[in-house]
Amino acid sequence: MTKIKMTTPLVEMDGDEMTRVLWKIIKDELLLPFIDLNTEYYDLGLEYRNETNDQVTIDSANATMKYGVAVKCATITPNAARMTEYNLKEMWKSPNGTIRAMLDGTVFRAPIKVQGINPCVKNWEKPITLARHAYGDVYKNTEIKVPGSGKAELVFTGSDGQVIRKTIMDFDGPGIIQGIHNKDKSIESFARSCFNYALDTKQDVWFATKDTISKVYDHNFKDIFQEIFENEYKKRFDEAGIEYFYTLIDDAVARVMKAKGGFIWACKNYDGDVMSDMVSSACGSLAMMTSVLVSPTGVYEYEAAHGTVQRHYYKHLKGEETSTNSVATIFAWTGALRKRGELDGIEELCAFADKLEEATLSTIESGKMTKDLALITDIKDVTVLNSEDFIKAIRETLEKKL
Ligand code: NAP
Ligand code: MG
Repeated sequence: MTKIKMTTPLVEMDGDEMTRVLWKIIKDELLLPFIDLNTEYYDLGLEYRNETNDQVTIDSANATMKYGVAVKCATITPNAARMTEYNLKEMWKSPNGTIRAMLDGTVFRAPIKVQGINPCVKNWEKPITLARHAYGDVYKNTEIKVPGSGKAELVFTGSDGQVIRKTIMDFDGPGIIQGIHNKDKSIESFARSCFNYALDTKQDVWFATKDTISKVYDHNFKDIFQEIFENEYKKRFDEAGIEYFYTLIDDAVARVMKAKGGFIWACKNYDGDVMSDMVSSACGSLAMMTSVLVSPTGVYEYEAAHGTVQRHYYKHLKGEETSTNSVATIFAWTGALRKRGELDGIEELCAFADKLEEATLSTIESGKMTKDLALITDIKDVTVLNSEDFIKAIRETLEKKL
């Protein structure tokens, strides 16, 4: 068999711990034997980030903007314990945060559906893709614990000297206040990312806020989405046979529980934080979730939704066997390869990505899986495989398909 050729490099961002171990096995067993893999490699492992003062993260994000598609391994976000463990010069920021800020992107997450692992919500026949706005609101707040009686005011001083002042509350005793904000530019990017992704994946978009109560703040989100939809997307949505649908957040939650799935649920930052955990835990496992960062200009970065699986890595270092689920990392690769194939018109690459996904799912459906899935499946006669043997089992299935 001749290997599939690639024309444009795929930006490859390597990572940390157990996912770095899986990354290499996936490449060796599932990619390199079949593809003449053309990647521009960036090592985002914590050691090299520290060595380069995190410049490598910035370089990898710039390369992503240059080529349009990246695949990223999970990475450590340093905390105090990691400072000592890796002898770090600084508590480097989360690479995901840095990349997201540079690409101005929105993260889309969807469960990977496989027979034998069923969501708790029985009517969810198709995955629900959650799009979370990743800027502002309560995540960038200013808070005051009010000590006693007094007047709380909201004041805006324009750079032209204009002053807008409103009373929040005349306190007659202790209490609390909070100031939050968002920017039209960020909301516009969020809206465009959602609409582009909807066209890309041929799914409806649902968006919800609490605009009946928050008549200025939430209403602004609703208006921006509506305006961008009407002016830039309505025609293309009609042609694609998909819809944009706005409702109140409480109505959206009720409808989601009764829906069949197969749509994008766009959420404000806090709603997205909470609802993505609900959707993912109802579907079984973070290791069975795809995650892609999409910029408003159409740049894509694919990754797994979970972290570096530290506990398994420490077992691995002690020479003990691990059974770490590589599905989300495999799907990060297939997502990226398929997108590269689409952009460069390489049908074989898209077809390979499809086959690798099918092989992964049918391996699980045949009863061969990692321990996390064995615990939640309805399939009888399960064979629990270790991290490496699971990937090798997928290779066997894949070779039969090719
Ligand atoms: P984690 O990697 O998500 O793992 C937490 C637990 O979830 C694991 O101990 C394991 O449970 C289970 N799990 C997650 N992924 C699994 C998989 N693929 N297969 C089987 N089980 C899986 O979170 P963490 O261990 O708390 O965090 C480790 C590091 O990841 C942190 O340094 C954090 O900064 C980083 N992180 C990175 C990203 C990212 O790059 N996108 C996201 C989140 C966290 P059991 O131990 O019960 O088996
Ligand atoms: Mg959360």
